[in-house]
Amino acid sequence: MKNSNADFKRIAIKIGSNVITQPDGSLNDGRILRIVEDVAILYKQGVEVVLISSGAVAAGRSEMNPSKKTNIIAAKQVWAAIGQVKLMSSYQFLFGKYGIYAGQLLATKENFRDRRHYLNMKNCISAMLENRVLPIVNENDTVSINELMFTDNDELSGFISSMMDCKSLIILTNVDGVFNGIPGNNGTELIRIIDEESENIEKYISEVKSGFGRGGMVTKCSIARKIASQGIDVFIANGRRDSIISDIVKRKDVPYTHFVARSKKEKGVKKWLAHSDTFTKGAVIINNGAKAALLAEKATSLLLIGVTKVDGFFKSGDIVRIVDEKGNNIGLGKSQYDSEKAEKNLGEKLSRPFIHYDYMVINDKSKAAFQE
Ligand code: GLU
Repeated sequence: MKNSNADFKRIAIKIGSNVITQPDGSLNDGRILRIVEDVAILYKQGVEVVLISSGAVAAGRSEMNPSKKTNIIAAKQVWAAIGQVKLMSSYQFLFGKYGIYAGQLLATKENFRDRRHYLNMKNCISAMLENRVLPIVNENDTVSINELMFTDNDELSGFISSMMDCKSLIILTNVDGVFNGIPGNNGTELIRIIDEESENIEKYISEVKSGFGRGGMVTKCSIARKIASQGIDVFIANGRRDSIISDIVKRKDVPYTHFVARSKKEKGVKKWLAHSDTFTKGAVIINNGAKAALLAEKATSLLLIGVTKVDGFFKSGDIVRIVDEKGNNIGLGKSQYDSEKAEKNLGEKLSRPFIHYDYMVINDKSKAAFQE
């Protein structure tokens, strides 16, 4: 099987709300226990595991109804406040039965915004792993603000697996993977493997969201593709199947969709930048000469001589988008000038690059289209 190349030394496992909650939202302790047993087996074999678990809001909602004057955002915060404790108590208790310490890490998208916060979080999870404490991550729903929320925990799991250099990410949901139609319909089949050559599978996916989770299959697929393009194998599988995690790791013939990792791996700063598109502070328009240089095989820095226009206000060190004359996004990078200084020196031949190539990521699609 093709996943025989996948590596499971350090893995991230994302558990969706629909996997571990009952129809009324309350936690399904039996299911959580099965998952904990499954993870414990791998843990005992020395696999490093980072869990990303949803279920807090659902668990809280099953407990209480906020008063009528509480708006829906505040209600979700209250549910998360109650539910997160229940969720973690359950995990801590059940992992404890296997002699495993489980610790909680609550993240907001803000934590990924600048490199200092990012490294701080990375250090924290690394220290937990070094001490054999199993990190269980969730979004800090009680304080997250709408415009800076993760699309869902699938996105968060992508951030975490890339940040932690995981070899594989397993996304557990309530279906067996990605289907080429509506699951259960006649003729609909599970897509077993998706790689760079696979056609645009998103067109097959029916966006029926069920239950309590925020994410759907379309976001799962786009996250999975992005993460696989960074060199991490991604599996989407059914978390309601017993021992699905260890079966995937043992390469058993069980149902799942495997997004095959691309062999090229992004490192350090570039990996962080690849997830920074929501944090850009402005954009620069570049001329065709600069575009050709950036999209060529060999990496080059972006010089101000190739920049024709500056959009927005940014400081030196902020992340900006790189756009061509037709308005296509080429990539992004960390600016070495503030917008005012850049504007003053447009088209000038200054020695310090506007974006150094070590701090730049170029959009794969633009690169591929250009090199064809
Ligand atoms: N963080 C949310 C929770 O724990 C779930 C978000 C999602 O559904 O992806 O309930």
